[in-house]
Amino acid sequence: MSESAQHDDAVRTFSGVGVSAGRVIGAVKRMPDPVAPPADGAPIADGVSIEEESERLKQATQAVAATLKERASKATGDAAAVLKATALMASDRSLLKSATKLVASGTSAESALWEAADAVATQLAALGGYMAERATDVLDVRSRIVAELRGVPAPGIPDADEPFVLWAVDLAPADTATLDPAKVLALVTSDGGPQSHTAIIARSLGLPAIVAATETTALVDGDVVFVDGINGEVVRNPGEAEALLAEAYASRVELPAFDGDGRLADGHLVPLLSNVGSGEDAVAAAEAGAQGVGLLRTEFCFLGRDKEPGHDEQVAAYKAVFDAFGGRKVVVRTLDAGADKPLPFLTDDSEPNPALGVRGYRCDTATPGVLGRQLAAIAEAAESSEADVWTMAPMISTPAEAARFAAMCAEAGLKTPGVMVEVPSAAVLARQLTAEVDFASIGTNDLTQYTMAADRQLGALAELNDPWQPAVLHLIKATADGGAAAGGDGSPKPVGVCGEAAADPALAVVLVGLGVATLSMNRRALPAVAAILKTVSMDDARRIATLALEAGSAAEAKAHVRAELPDLDRFGL
Ligand code: PEP
Ligand code: MG
Repeated sequence: MSESAQHDDAVRTFSGVGVSAGRVIGAVKRMPDPVAPPADGAPIADGVSIEEESERLKQATQAVAATLKERASKATGDAAAVLKATALMASDRSLLKSATKLVASGTSAESALWEAADAVATQLAALGGYMAERATDVLDVRSRIVAELRGVPAPGIPDADEPFVLWAVDLAPADTATLDPAKVLALVTSDGGPQSHTAIIARSLGLPAIVAATETTALVDGDVVFVDGINGEVVRNPGEAEALLAEAYASRVELPAFDGDGRLADGHLVPLLSNVGSGEDAVAAAEAGAQGVGLLRTEFCFLGRDKEPGHDEQVAAYKAVFDAFGGRKVVVRTLDAGADKPLPFLTDDSEPNPALGVRGYRCDTATPGVLGRQLAAIAEAAESSEADVWTMAPMISTPAEAARFAAMCAEAGLKTPGVMVEVPSAAVLARQLTAEVDFASIGTNDLTQYTMAADRQLGALAELNDPWQPAVLHLIKATADGGAAAGGDGSPKPVGVCGEAAADPALAVVLVGLGVATLSMNRRALPAVAAILKTVSMDDARRIATLALEAGSAAEAKAHVRAELPDLDRFGL
């Protein structure tokens, strides 16, 4: 037996950060490497005629179109739509025609196709709106055809007949659109953190997932692994013990659907809201029973744009979300550009430290006007819908900023202004801050990154970047206490949580025990959070929260809390 084969037989445990619960066993499939661009204008290989090269190109495009069509026919929902659009792009005659023209002048099929697709993508991007979004499809097709010409695996989520454990460095948003939970058993990445796109999508699809498992780069296709999304461990060549754990998970009690009524065992109400990023999302959240929207990320209207969307476009986009929730509460977060959400017309990309730079509410000082125009659009959309619209600003750091934002809301005619608490200074001065507005919502993703001084996008810091860190929990308590004291006259200011922490059912119990009034999450987390909240009284939640606050580490906090919530295991959470 060769040395590498012996190595492959060894049982080995890799650690990472568990970001979505569940325990499964399956064979690994690695995400193929991205397709490297060919050299500009590379010539056709010696001994190959122009006719042969053109034929090779034609065959490759046909093969890619056929594969995509077949995958589209087996897929459903978003995945089917993305695959169909990409298949159409692959059979686009004008793309093939321009590439063939370049081949006729002696350019290799790879370089010709690369260049031709580039030109199409640039034209589409210049058209803006829907057409600009199609530019991504063209670039995806380009990579697929070039991979076919090279005889290497197509980029994107691999296809297989048997469900598999997907390994990747990290997943791009475009990849996740074609992630089929019927095919993928679990996700393991060597990079990414608890708030990375991979983590968010895994939780939303209910797939066990581990991120920042740096040493899993050693895994190869076909390795059989046990993925423990609860403890953040990947075991290669698992044995009996792991098989029993996976079986227990497979026979978990199915979670009841969320009945639209978040409450504790003693009847204490904890409204469960949803985070949404578009009108479509809002409709799905309402169908999933969300009691309102706790975070409308308005960037959806701005991302990928090189100029600010106009007033009417913004009004229509916000109104679509409001209308999905009738007379219920919708919390709109004003534009949060910068750092992990850069916008070409607002973000200075030369900042050395974007997360500590001009982002969120701060953009209004560097580029005045955009926020005021957005507030006017929110106000008009609110006016023409029945929703109870609350408006909050991201990245508020001082009471003066909170007061100024409240004044801007009043000027726009918006009646319920609030702030996000994402910066430690805001948590520490929560009483003064919330005194200026009507409510606060804690963005635990950013509050964690700033409390721990750990970039939320860096896999290497994932252990620090964990909302279970007791220091973060203390700041959450400070915020809830500040909100409770802000009214002074007995009208406390409500404090909610809308970061990813709210989607973790065990952490949700802690948040409620710390004094958080409402929780807002991805709609797919609603059944799990609701089911676990129903198993504790307010007294239990307070006692459990104290255990977490007193823990010396994130892992200890999590372990102590989980030990108090046996239903987590029953439901496989
Ligand atoms: C947060 O920071 O927790 C949050 C909800 O905002 P975002 O993730 O959009 O920065
Ligand atoms: Mg944030």
